[in-house]
Amino acid sequence: MSGKANKDLYSTFVTSGPGSFIASRVGLPQPPTLRRYSPSQTPLSGPVVLGGEGRLVEPLREILAAADGYDLISNNTSGRSADKLGAAVFDATGITDPAGLDALFEFFTPVMRSTGSSARFVVVGTHPELCRTPGEQIAQRALEGFTRSLGKELRNGATAQLVYVHPKAKTGLSGVESTLRFLLSGKSAYVDAQVIRIGEADATAPKDWDKPLAGRVALVTGAARGIGATIAEVLARDGAHVIAADIPAAGEALSETANRVKGTALPLDVTSPDAGKTIAAHVLERHGGLDIIVNNAGITRDKLLANMDEARWNSVIGVNLLAPQRLVDDLVAAKALRAGGAVIDVSSIAGIAGNRGQTNYGTSKAGVIGLVNAYAPILAKEGITINAVAPGFIETAMTAAIPLATREVGRRMNSLQQGGQTVDVAETVAWYASPASNAVTGNIVRVCGQSLLGA
Ligand code: NAD
Repeated sequence: MSGKANKDLYSTFVTSGPGSFIASRVGLPQPPTLRRYSPSQTPLSGPVVLGGEGRLVEPLREILAAADGYDLISNNTSGRSADKLGAAVFDATGITDPAGLDALFEFFTPVMRSTGSSARFVVVGTHPELCRTPGEQIAQRALEGFTRSLGKELRNGATAQLVYVHPKAKTGLSGVESTLRFLLSGKSAYVDAQVIRIGEADATAPKDWDKPLAGRVALVTGAARGIGATIAEVLARDGAHVIAADIPAAGEALSETANRVKGTALPLDVTSPDAGKTIAAHVLERHGGLDIIVNNAGITRDKLLANMDEARWNSVIGVNLLAPQRLVDDLVAAKALRAGGAVIDVSSIAGIAGNRGQTNYGTSKAGVIGLVNAYAPILAKEGITINAVAPGFIETAMTAAIPLATREVGRRMNSLQQGGQTVDVAETVAWYASPASNAVTGNIVRVCGQSLLGA
């Protein structure tokens, strides 16, 4: 993938033989090598243990037993205790009062001592605001503090997530499977300590889990380079026909992306008033409609607010916030976005934590979160999902331009002690884009290795 170029020379050095020796001697951070997805290897580095006594443990067991590549062992690991675990999944939906939270301690404490590299921890609960009693609501809310703290204790590239499942989700749990497969694999390598909400909608499993986007048409804005180019590649890998859009000046780089993914190039400034109409006309004429739109195009024009000029403010708000909203409005109005489709927006941890010199950018990226919140119920009526990724420090041309000291702080101040790769953002987008994720809407998932910023 084009986004693989890792400019993190420090990581390269401390994971080499002599570098590792020196780093451990003087107590320097030693970022682990994250296990990322490859179709030729098993999704996890070892077996997965499943525990808990809630409404979901049996359906989860069925999903894991039927899916290829998972070696499932139950709560009772008798005879297998020497194995290094690849993952631990705990159904906490049965915890209906705060005193019952000791079940977390009982399940996870022994597990902590036998985890392999890049292990996955997943706690499954019920949306707290939909619980039937105050005691259950308190207990379910408490799971968030447990999972976030667990993420900070884990080592060797291991991650922890919390998945809240709607109390009315069907027992077959089809809406949960795509999320479980994403979390229990290298596709979620840089997603850490996130809270994901799954609704009650039923989903149909794709014919082939390696090509969940077969037959789908996807448009990615800002696809000439960086994160957008890798999103185009990953969506194409998963079977989609990709329309790569970027400003006309991106010319050759845009054509290169389109050629690489065997898709189409569409030169287009997302801020032009007729951008939505142009896309609608293009997809209706050539494909009969669009299934996925990824609003990835984004810019920064940093200045302290005291020195901010109107052009900097307006251009950032225009590209990052006004365009994603207008494109969706225009595509829906033109009936170009098909039912069963997905809108995916790109926010940023700067939209959560704020950033000095980025009042314009922080406003736009927090606005994107507002856009997802506001449009999720509106688009649900059309059978369309909307979610956002909020990347942290991702190794791109944009972050390579940051002065060294600031760059090193951004890179290391997270639980995985390194920056993410563009593919980490792209895999998260692909999970949202899958028709099997149609119960996933209104989510903001950070791809930031549990960055301390905005935590
Ligand atoms: P990038 O600058 O490498 O790529 C952005 C692309 O968007 C470029 O190809 C550019 O030509 C295109 N673009 C800009 N304005 C456009 C317009 N008006 N119309 C069409 N295309 C336009 O940036 P990146 O690092 O790949 O970032 C991609 C997205 O991820 C952005 O929304 C950015 O804010 C967000 N993000 C990046 C990071 C990071 O660490 N790199 C962190 C958080 C969020």
